[in-house]
Amino acid sequence: MTALLHANVTHLQANANANGLDHVVVSTLEGRRILARARSYVLACGGIENPRLLLAARDVQKDGIGNDNDLVGRFFMEHQHGRAGRVHTDDPFRLWHLFRKRRIAGGPPVAPTLLPSPDLQQTASILNTALTFKLQRDPSQGLLLNDRIYRHLKHQLPPDRTRRRLWHAYRDARGWVQRNLKPKIERLRSGAGARHLYAMVRAEQAPNPNSRVTLSGERDRLGMLKASLRWQLSDIDKQTVSALAESLGEELTRLGAGRVEKADWLEDPSPEWPLDPTVSKHPIGGYHHMGTTRMGSTPRTGVVDADGRVHGYHNLYVAGSSVFPTGGWANPTLTILALVHRLAEHLDDRLRQTDP
Ligand SMILES: Cc1cc2nc3c(=O)[nH]c(=O)nc-3n(C[C@H](O)[C@H](O)[C@H](O)COP(=O)(O)OP(=O)(O)OC[C@H]3O[C@@H](n4cnc5c(N)ncnc54)[C@H](O)[C@@H]3O)c2cc1C
Repeated sequence: MTALLHANVTHLQANANANGLDHVVVSTLEGRRILARARSYVLACGGIENPRLLLAARDVQKDGIGNDNDLVGRFFMEHQHGRAGRVHTDDPFRLWHLFRKRRIAGGPPVAPTLLPSPDLQQTASILNTALTFKLQRDPSQGLLLNDRIYRHLKHQLPPDRTRRRLWHAYRDARGWVQRNLKPKIERLRSGAGARHLYAMVRAEQAPNPNSRVTLSGERDRLGMLKASLRWQLSDIDKQTVSALAESLGEELTRLGAGRVEKADWLEDPSPEWPLDPTVSKHPIGGYHHMGTTRMGSTPRTGVVDADGRVHGYHNLYVAGSSVFPTGGWANPTLTILALVHRLAEHLDDRLRQTDP
């Protein structure tokens, strides 16, 4: 097997019958260009690049590959993060502590979340979004200095080896403080009234055809048209958070444990989602790009079939969360890997059938 590094696929060349890929064009920033030919091709470039490459391949089919029904790039979904409301309770620390992230010996950190029951989802017509709790100072005061440093090191410095080391060192030190000192610090701060308790969501987004990746008019250094993203939410995305906040409030009141003051933005009827840097490490979404080459049993409902094969193309497959028809609220990587294993088995069978 040969792996090519720093090799960018810049064109997917369809065959003249528009039913298979003939080759891909690979370019480097130094100006090298090669054609790569294979029996099967798997496009696994992420939820924005996958549709970009399919849409940009317009020389044989004018709307791009797999796009006869104008589905490529549509239904872009994320896991939007937000504040459902403030929880008023006599002992904010206790509730936070019950739900806080814990490390199981030898295992990864885990944290409980609150989810709507299937009954609540059905009766309130809402999605399956997760609630957690966060103790923090009044969010209108903005980010704490240590969060600002963290974000700067992680997102604003160039990702070279030295600066990544610096970020890792800071992240590890911060992790140690959070594991060992945070509960004590938070107990003191919330006891002194300097911390409030908030209900936070990591939300499911309903598939929305108008939420989409298209090609912009600008070109990148390799001459490819850049992607343009119009991420659009729907009413149900916000209604879900509102219904969850109400349900949490009812339950806390029933238990005599407190009440919920819903976040102001939930009362605004537009589907706009606020950018709130104090919500989590990810101020608005989870960096989970999904849905732009969705799976469907027919070309009218999806770009790829159940095997991940682009409808109408015998040798072109797509892997990654771009094939998700819906996104749930949970992190996508395990589902991506499960689908990739299935695709690998499918390709293995196929190659055995064609190899003598
Ligand atoms: C900061 C951050 C934190 C995250 N945390 C989590 C988490 O905790 N749990 C979780 O489940 N998910 C997490 N995710 C999301 C997860 O990383 C993605 O959902 C997942 O990596 C998507 O997998 P993929 O293989 O489809 O695409 P990617 O992992 O994006 O891989 C695409 C690859 O294609 C390459 N590529 C792109 N274009 C081209 C081209 N034209 N030619 C050649 N190569 C190309 C890219 O360089 C990249 O290597 C996180 C994402 C980010 C950014």
